[in-house]
Amino acid sequence: MSAGSITVRGLLAVAKGRLDGNDASRENELLLGHALGRDRAWLYAHADDPLAAADAVHFHSLLVRRAAGEPLAYITGRREFWSLDLAVTPDVLIPRLETELLVELALRRISQSAQVDIADLGTGSGAVAVAIAHERARARVLATDASAAALAVARGNAGSLDTRNVEFAQGDWCAALGNRKFELIVSNPPYIAEADVHLARGDLRFEPRAALVSGSDGLDAICAIVRDVPMYLKPDGWLLFEHGHQQGAEVRDLLQRSGFAEVFTERDLEGRERVSGGRLAQAG
Ligand code: GLN
Repeated sequence: MSAGSITVRGLLAVAKGRLDGNDASRENELLLGHALGRDRAWLYAHADDPLAAADAVHFHSLLVRRAAGEPLAYITGRREFWSLDLAVTPDVLIPRLETELLVELALRRISQSAQVDIADLGTGSGAVAVAIAHERARARVLATDASAAALAVARGNAGSLDTRNVEFAQGDWCAALGNRKFELIVSNPPYIAEADVHLARGDLRFEPRAALVSGSDGLDAICAIVRDVPMYLKPDGWLLFEHGHQQGAEVRDLLQRSGFAEVFTERDLEGRERVSGGRLAQAG
């Protein structure tokens, strides 16, 4: 078969085996869909359509990039989080499924009608801030990041999803909060230790180091957040943040020493300690 006459089905069959892993056929479909500017449903409906040679060549170039390890989300520029279709670029961490737990725990603490102020520290793509704002239209969410490039991605996501109750501010952790106070502060900070071998594997090789790594034990950002957040919480306000699955005991201790009450850790779907938090104890 010449390239000019290959069908959608034929091209996917040729591509089979180029990528490793259980997810290879789904990834092939997403890459072909991206090359054609179509979704996967279109590919199924048009399996016997002939493809233009240029499209087959474009698909092949995407496959080569993916086979070299580049994350799928950076190649397609999209990632689904909380059922929202988000734009992602190499300037931001690729949203993870386990981070939906942070959103879930935040939503449990805000009623539909609550006009509360929420901050998301180190928003990256804006995934957490936008998901919360999307679910709680009356809440006002301030999303911060030290990186101007990340904030541009997050702003774009809030705009394309028409979530108007998110604002943005640039700065490190609490430095971007000014003199405002919040009912709830959430964060998915970097928490991987500098020497962690996982940094040399998979998607992590391509993600911004500042979004992943935080000092020799991975706890630098979390320490700064837990230390400073009490000044930015209203009485009885909550801090919730994601962390590494072996950091639970340490972060609970940090929270307690920083004056938080009702300190807890919740496990992710894989049963690993993943999100901890506490409530600012009333002074006196
Ligand atoms: N959960 C990510 C990972 O281990 C890290 C994200 C983060 O540091 N916030 O791949």
